[in-house]
Amino acid sequence: MALHPIDVELPGDANSRYSVDWSGDAQGQMLAVARPRSVDEVRAVVAYCADKGIAVIPQGGHTGLTSGAISPKPGCLIVSLERLNAVREIDEGNFSITVEAGCLLQNVKDAADERDFLFPLSLGAQGSCQIGGNVATNAGGVNVLRYGMMRNLVLGLEVVLPDGSLWNGLGGLRKDNRGYDLKQLFIGSEGTLGIVTAACLKLLPRPEVTETAYLGLDTFADAIDLFSRARRSCADLMSGFEIIGAECLPLAREIYPQLQSPLAGDAPVHVLMEVSASRLVPLRAMMEVFLTQAMEADLVRDAVLAASIAQAQTFWRIREGLVEGHGRRGYHVRSDISVRLPQIAPLIEQLRAMLEDNFAGWTSQSYGHAGDGNVHFNALPPAGLPLPQARAIGAQIEGRIFQIVEAMDGSISAEHGLGRTKRDRFASSVEATHLTMMRTVKRAFDPANIMNPGCILAEDEVAA
Ligand SMILES: Cc1cc2nc3c(=O)[nH]c(=O)nc-3n(C[C@H](O)[C@H](O)[C@H](O)COP(=O)(O)OP(=O)(O)OC[C@H]3O[C@@H](n4cnc5c(N)ncnc54)[C@H](O)[C@@H]3O)c2cc1C
Repeated sequence: MALHPIDVELPGDANSRYSVDWSGDAQGQMLAVARPRSVDEVRAVVAYCADKGIAVIPQGGHTGLTSGAISPKPGCLIVSLERLNAVREIDEGNFSITVEAGCLLQNVKDAADERDFLFPLSLGAQGSCQIGGNVATNAGGVNVLRYGMMRNLVLGLEVVLPDGSLWNGLGGLRKDNRGYDLKQLFIGSEGTLGIVTAACLKLLPRPEVTETAYLGLDTFADAIDLFSRARRSCADLMSGFEIIGAECLPLAREIYPQLQSPLAGDAPVHVLMEVSASRLVPLRAMMEVFLTQAMEADLVRDAVLAASIAQAQTFWRIREGLVEGHGRRGYHVRSDISVRLPQIAPLIEQLRAMLEDNFAGWTSQSYGHAGDGNVHFNALPPAGLPLPQARAIGAQIEGRIFQIVEAMDGSISAEHGLGRTKRDRFASSVEATHLTMMRTVKRAFDPANIMNPGCILAEDEVAA
């Protein structure tokens, strides 16, 4: 094979780290892994595959959680972007940074921080996920309510197309209405239209002061009322509003055994709220007034305003730990759903009742980026239930979750994309016109269907 100079691992080892995703739930197959070091090498690999009719799967940090970066079928070439990881330019005057696709999100944040800027995308997997993966999945995270999703943070892209040609759309302009905004098609396309090799991203001024509060509430409905108030009282300064069901804390303790609830007493619902601004804004006074008013209105039962950065970090550790705690539990039902804000509390109530009434021994965990209408409702199987049975029952639970979300006109994938795991459910529930438009876009970019076939759209859907 003429690809050896480009570093191809042959043959694809089934146990290779390139064939599993973060959850460990799915095992992929492959022909080989290519790890190009330059854009020209990416082009050469893709052109070779196009010529030979070999399927190509772009892979970032494989933290995507929907099996988008691994294939259940043998014969595909995984293209790992991990070696294409340079920071090409920081343009301070333009408030922008241009990085290669394989840069870890954490490294981009650190590079911005060193120059006194903020790159605001923040998520639990930021030490492993890559900018190319963030673009391809339109990643969200904890600061979306203020800064938007990846789509709002991308100024330009460079992409290798399925025939090996290169599109340089790295412009870095904030305003550009010359026809179709093509970069938007690649953002959220999950590697089905081309391989992102670089991105020009927005930088923001780094906030000088951050205030973080940990709050205890009676209900999720109160949490959403509190969020509405905070939007008005704290204007655009709110950068995080996470809801956490109290039942999630033991999972966080599995990762951080010393972790204590910051609250004096028990509260069924916890809220982690963050505001940030420049030093000229009297943030602390604003938070004190806001929280006093919320307590007087009986919305908040207990409130702790972090006294130091270290204490704020312990609050965030609860949020991070519970996600990792889920991962450590092994197989469980994981969901990433969204509804309109006023429907969050009824959604969680219905989901909890569905699980309790129909699936004895299963326990639920509810948490999420509530400010964006995004809830993670996960279900853990009873201890000792054999894996094949857990998976079979888990599939039923997932179906019931999707039914409830769809009845509320919500989304079965708020952040993680469709990948291969949610593809068929999406196809069976979306309007025919929507699916036709998606197929048309895919065929226009990738008529031979070599770019991540079976991701987002089933292979026969594209061929039909
Ligand atoms: C602990 C944890 C917490 C998470 N929290 C969040 C969260 O808060 N918000 C959120 O949105 N997501 C979250 N995720 C999901 C995940 O981190 C994101 O989807 C992330 O953007 C995926 O990046 P990656 O580099 O790992 O991509 P991969 O998993 O490697 O790939 C994901 C998809 O993108 C495609 N792709 C990857 N690189 C490229 C490229 N260069 N060009 C074209 N296509 C490409 C792949 O083919 C695949 O379809 C979390 C995941 C974990 C494990």
